[in-house]
Amino acid sequence: MVVFRPDRVGPFPFPKSSPETRRKDFSEVEQPYTKEQAMLEADRCLRCGTPVCIDACPVQLDVRGMMDAVANGDFKTAYERIRETNPLLGVTARCCPQLQGLCEDACVVRWGGQPLSIGMVQRFMADWEQNESRQPGPASEPKTGKKVAVVGGGPAGLAAAALLLRYGHGVTIYEESDHLGGTAWYGIPDYHLPKDVLSYEAGRIVEAGVVVKTGVKVGRDVSLSLLLDEADAVLVATGSRDVRTLDTPGAQLGGIYDGYGFLRRVYMEGVDVYLRGYAKELGKDVVVVGGGDSALDCARTALRLTQGNVTVVYRRDEKDMPADPIMVQEAKEEGVEFEFLSDPIEFVGDGRVVTGMVVAAMQLGQPDSTGRKHPEPIPGRSSTLKCDSVLLAIGRGPDSFLEKVEGLKAGPKGAISVDDHYRTSMTGVFASGDATTGETLVVKAMGHARECAQRVHEFLTGLEGRHVSLYERYYLERTTEDSYQDMLDGKEGGLPPD
Ligand SMILES: Cc1cc2nc3c(=O)[nH]c(=O)nc-3n(C[C@H](O)[C@H](O)[C@H](O)COP(=O)(O)OP(=O)(O)OC[C@H]3O[C@@H](n4cnc5c(N)ncnc54)[C@H](O)[C@@H]3O)c2cc1C
Ligand code: SF4
Repeated sequence: MVVFRPDRVGPFPFPKSSPETRRKDFSEVEQPYTKEQAMLEADRCLRCGTPVCIDACPVQLDVRGMMDAVANGDFKTAYERIRETNPLLGVTARCCPQLQGLCEDACVVRWGGQPLSIGMVQRFMADWEQNESRQPGPASEPKTGKKVAVVGGGPAGLAAAALLLRYGHGVTIYEESDHLGGTAWYGIPDYHLPKDVLSYEAGRIVEAGVVVKTGVKVGRDVSLSLLLDEADAVLVATGSRDVRTLDTPGAQLGGIYDGYGFLRRVYMEGVDVYLRGYAKELGKDVVVVGGGDSALDCARTALRLTQGNVTVVYRRDEKDMPADPIMVQEAKEEGVEFEFLSDPIEFVGDGRVVTGMVVAAMQLGQPDSTGRKHPEPIPGRSSTLKCDSVLLAIGRGPDSFLEKVEGLKAGPKGAISVDDHYRTSMTGVFASGDATTGETLVVKAMGHARECAQRVHEFLTGLEGRHVSLYERYYLERTTEDSYQDMLDGKEGGLPPD
């Protein structure tokens, strides 16, 4: 059954499969718009003179240009416009939390009701291109003869590689695992981002000419200085990896797992392979500790694998949970239970494996440095949750491996330290994405890496500070074209309502 309320003003404007169906398998939760739905939705766009949706997008996707072309049924033009600034269209369409500080949050139509479903229209366009009408990629500049080595094939590495290739440089990605996509491959569950979509998008970048060497861990199998001997610059995009742990008594018992490692085991080679190797890992009663999207990914994945009882334990209340409210709602619909204002104080077991988690009841005190009320235990109040396994998803920081083995200077929280030009402490080595910022979002890592790639290009061509980027050029040309056409049509750009 597909739930779709086109008239609805609220947080769920998109069609979804029913909770009963989706808790049983890993198929996609969001269902696509039909051509008619996409065109109708796009036609709600006001074509604002000041498109705040574009400013809110870390890769400045041409939302207005896409909506205008889709509303007119001109999908080829819509595709060309959005492909210009975003090399992973089907990926960001699906996994950006558009209503959380991104394009849909900024859309002015939100002030009077339901913002435009930008992600769904973008997804329609990505699916149209992937399944119905393959299109060429954006134009590239003549070959320069320069070479860049990119370390890490996640969203940041891929976005940087795509831009550097368009500038005519030879690009090689070195990736430790067997797959491109990084955390988007093994962290974002298949029910949000099917692997075929990610493979397709990454594959397009490879087809365009980027060379990929998988199964190579830089710092172990090859050093940064060796890469620098072979290339003119190195761009590091190694992401986040270093997980936070608990020192709670009993935390060493069997059955207590790092949730990020769990997701990696499930999704790196696929659910079937996981089930063959780890079928009994979770048992039937699973507790997940954490309040972010990763905790929800662990919980919803565990629910699908076990068909058992899955409870998320979080020390603050629901309002202060960092997770996307849409994800919380979906998890509840599927049957995930929540224990808010609860904090683990002890794990109990049979001497070998965990059998229960003791939680202290919490209350909210004064606001802390994050602006949220600080959770404090209520003296003398605790309870025990029975469990066969525990998944800890309490955050992770930048992958510190490379900076440790290669002596790169580290910044706050172990991030690789970079200056305003994305240069690391090693000459010729640049860095970007989550490796330098800590865990963010796919689209933020891509935007950051693209800026870094721009600086690498300027470094290689000696054009520091004097070069208008390809993506800036797109808007300079488009704006002139738009304004001229609007003038001919006697139109004014729609301004945001007062
Ligand atoms: C569970 C989970 C769910 C998430 N869900 C979402 C979501 O729904 N939407 C969203 O926008 N964001 C989500 N994120 C965040 C998002 O995945 C990251 O912000 C994004 O992938 C960061 O991109 P990156 O390229 O900087 O790093 P990564 O994606 O982590 O990629 C780094 C790559 O570098 C490789 N690598 C590391 N060290 C080396 C080395 N020494 N040599 C060679 N290769 C190396 C790694 O194998 C990896 O492939 C999620 C994160 C997690 C953990
Ligand atoms: S902000 Fe304006 S241009 Fe952007 S999607 Fe909303 S209505 Fe359209």
